[in-house]
Amino acid sequence: MRLEINGWASKIVFSATHIIPMHSKCGRLHGHDYAINTKIEGEMAPNGVIMDFISVKEFLRGVAAELDHRVLIPAKDPGVTIGKDYVEYIVGDKKLTLPRCDCIMLEIEVASAETLANFVLKRMLDKVKFPENVTRIEIGVDEGRGQGAWTGHDF
Ligand SMILES: [Zn+2]
Repeated sequence: MRLEINGWASKIVFSATHIIPMHSKCGRLHGHDYAINTKIEGEMAPNGVIMDFISVKEFLRGVAAELDHRVLIPAKDPGVTIGKDYVEYIVGDKKLTLPRCDCIMLEIEVASAETLANFVLKRMLDKVKFPENVTRIEIGVDEGRGQGAWTGHDF
């Protein structure tokens, strides 16, 4: 059996700016409305539910709030330099200098929907306790409605 939480319908959304190096159109600084979706698979417990997913929604809303109205900086990109109050990001032949307070540094290589999904999944595995009847969780990050990247973890 599977629970699904649609980020758009559940208001687990954020707006953010990113840039994808070496990409023709997405190689320009631009933004998206994002949503974080999740699926939780497992056996129904004797109380008739797989798990109380309120805590999952609260956790995901917290992550969305952290990313909201920020520039998503892939801290693992060697072109990124983090200064005291600025972030410098060299993308091809461009040098972006951004106020650090407007950025969020993420331990990813590139700020794609795929890496954001991995980031959210990893964070969720660290922070959310899943009951033993849960066998698999999935995270999907939509970059605009109807297009996104999914990743999952089997327990
Ligand atoms: Zn984009």
